[in-house]
Amino acid sequence: ESLDKGLEKSKTTFFSKLSKAVAGKSKVDDDVLDNLEEVLVTSDVGVDTTLKIIERIEARVAKDKYMGTDELNIILREEIAGLLSETNLGDATEISIPEGVRPYVIMVVGVNGVGKTTTIGKLAHQFKNKGFKVVLGAADTFRAAAIDQLQVWADRVDVPIVKQKMGSDPASVAFDTLSSAVSQGADVVIIDTAGRLHNKVNLMNELTKVKRVMQKVVENTPHEVLLVLDGSTGQNAFEQAKQFTKATEVTSLAVTKLDGTAKGGVVIGISDQFQIPVKYIGVGEGIEDLQVFNKYEFVDSFFS
Ligand code: GDP
Repeated sequence: ESLDKGLEKSKTTFFSKLSKAVAGKSKVDDDVLDNLEEVLVTSDVGVDTTLKIIERIEARVAKDKYMGTDELNIILREEIAGLLSETNLGDATEISIPEGVRPYVIMVVGVNGVGKTTTIGKLAHQFKNKGFKVVLGAADTFRAAAIDQLQVWADRVDVPIVKQKMGSDPASVAFDTLSSAVSQGADVVIIDTAGRLHNKVNLMNELTKVKRVMQKVVENTPHEVLLVLDGSTGQNAFEQAKQFTKATEVTSLAVTKLDGTAKGGVVIGISDQFQIPVKYIGVGEGIEDLQVFNKYEFVDSFFS
């Protein structure tokens, strides 16, 4: 229900475009397919993924000889669900904390303003509600505001935070956080990092160093690297995903701000293009507004 609400704008816009694409047509022909291509591209599905979807529909039209435009909804829904199934393994794909791995360390990356801090706060809240002992690490030391904001969320969720002053070494904060987590017997550690993209080499070096130093405290960390992308920025989100996946090994994605945007299609394209599961979607500013991404629910709420 809340997912429907979160994606309302995407859905409404998508359907009005789709109905224009088939207006006055009873059968799916080349014109309709051209229009459909435009609908998908302007819904931020991305060109490559759009072409993939169009090809699949073309193949079905060719096979069935005749496809009415009234069926297009159903076919499109099936093809998109199929696409998401291929790339987004599993159904509800939240980050699960395996037994015997303590602390379980999640490093969160993404550029400023995408909703990284908010997502960390919401995630901490979810883990805490499941009975896990959570510790936050403020390793985005580049901006004072980032540290303050994380502190606000730590207070709100009521979990401990490890921080140093602005400008200190992110790797040192990460080290302290893990040491503190180990001594407190914490279950989950969530580390915020700075996401400066203006210098790719710096970003890569910084993330590599943070990882290396963390591994001195807990082996094989981080267990999870979560990239946060702002869904309302459409193609920028694609570009950021490209940069970050080059700089570090990203294991999961969170796409934020899908409420209030018509760009929900970005989730489809990103999960197809990067072969990294979207695990969460942000649908508001509140503490509860982070949903575990479920591809079936997502496609359903987009299409019904
Ligand atoms: P950061 O710089 O990446 O850490 O970004 P913040 O977490 O500070 O978020 C930037 C702004 O986006 C804040 O005003 C958040 O309340 C807002 N925000 C974050 N996630 C969402 C979301 O899913 N929906 C909406 N509408 N706003 C969000």
